[in-house]
Amino acid sequence: MTHMESCTKATKEWLNSVEYREKNFAREKLVINPAKACQPLGALLCALGIEGCLPFTHGSQGCTAYFRSTLSRHFREPVASVSDSMTEDSAVFGGQANFIEGLKNAYTVYNPKVIAVYTSCMAEVIGDDISSFLGNAKDQGAVPMDFPVALANTPSFKMSHIAGYDIMLKGLIECLATPRQEDQINERLYVVPGFDTYPANLREYKRLLNMMNVPYTLLPDYSNVVDTPNLGKYELYPGGTPLVEMKEALNGLGYLLCQTYSTSNTKKYLTGESIPVEAIPMPIGMAGTDRFIEAAAKLTGKEVSEEITYERGLAVDAMTDAHQYMHGRKFALFGDPDLLLGLVSFLLEMGGEPVHIVCSNSTPLFKKDMERLLASSPYGQGATLYPNKDLWHLRSLLVTEPVDMLIGDSHGKWAARDAGIPLVRVGFPFYDRVNLHRYPIVGYSGVINLITMIVNTFLEEKDRASTDAYFELLR
Ligand code: SF4
Repeated sequence: MTHMESCTKATKEWLNSVEYREKNFAREKLVINPAKACQPLGALLCALGIEGCLPFTHGSQGCTAYFRSTLSRHFREPVASVSDSMTEDSAVFGGQANFIEGLKNAYTVYNPKVIAVYTSCMAEVIGDDISSFLGNAKDQGAVPMDFPVALANTPSFKMSHIAGYDIMLKGLIECLATPRQEDQINERLYVVPGFDTYPANLREYKRLLNMMNVPYTLLPDYSNVVDTPNLGKYELYPGGTPLVEMKEALNGLGYLLCQTYSTSNTKKYLTGESIPVEAIPMPIGMAGTDRFIEAAAKLTGKEVSEEITYERGLAVDAMTDAHQYMHGRKFALFGDPDLLLGLVSFLLEMGGEPVHIVCSNSTPLFKKDMERLLASSPYGQGATLYPNKDLWHLRSLLVTEPVDMLIGDSHGKWAARDAGIPLVRVGFPFYDRVNLHRYPIVGYSGVINLITMIVNTFLEEKDRASTDAYFELLR
């Protein structure tokens, strides 16, 4: 990202002009600061959510360092993962030798209950066949014949981290679950959060399901892996979805997928296995949360408890108290498709007006969904979705067509600074703030938390910008 302080005044003015914006949007081959990560990062996060599971990159060590550091900086926790460190010779001769030796070492040194293998670009470019590598590794005794190793091809030169999560999840179910048997159906609702970097969101799903007395399995559940208590002792495998529940995953009563774009492969697979599946938009905002509760009730036949109705009322009250601070304010947003649908839905409920929506990992289906959502509200009429654009495009939008606030992850701070507007951090990653991942943005609690973050930021700005005459106690 350009450091504007080092630009001349003329350059700065030109970079902020409509003329430059047009040139910027005419760019086709170059991507500058996309708001997405590569597939294996999503696969790694997914794998962390299974009991005793060791994430294993078949590919370069440098890639693994990037995934680990990105996740570690966001969660401020150590993130366990290994790689078979492919280098130039593997690119020429194939990565089988690395794969077998790496698997053997990982099994021997780290004592996992399951290993989740996903691939980096290098392995995919040379066409490594990880399925036959695994067969050969077992034949050679690298791991016992019955040791579970889940596989996911995650080529990073297409799609993004949300696809990697999805493909790994499908691989884990295929590897660990026994086939569905109609006379063995259990009572559990399997709830899939989707690519979600808020451990607090995962805990919020569990809390709401407990309040409904729903027997459930959160799959995957890395809440207690990426957010662990400091008790003075490091645990390599501190949590995750229990393997006994993974074994029964295809005999579940049904599946509730809490995101649609990061779970589409898994949904297709489960539907093919004749399992009842409902995929809902990420339950952000009132309508989104209502849909989560209704779907859980429908799939399990459980009643919506009074406790939940009470909580909903608290969120409605918070919305009523604060709507005047968001009503008519203009917003720009960037992030993943599922997150954006939830956030825009919430803004529209509050009378906020989304203007620029940048999604670096958009799809034609997402474009349609977003346009339908925007068309459903008078507050969505002034919004434009910019599919597959990056944060340098976003900067041009912010400086030529100003808004009141940017919502997105830490990477948006340069564009927000150049545009002179606040950035409310929602999404992934957070490198420059603490604890945000510890506050849910889903559920009725999430409604209250989002209002708190957004409205108090506006009020803080107002106080800072006020002259003595307008520096009020009451806002
Ligand atoms: S894009 Fe490819 S090379 Fe880069 S970190 Fe991801 S897997 Fe590695």
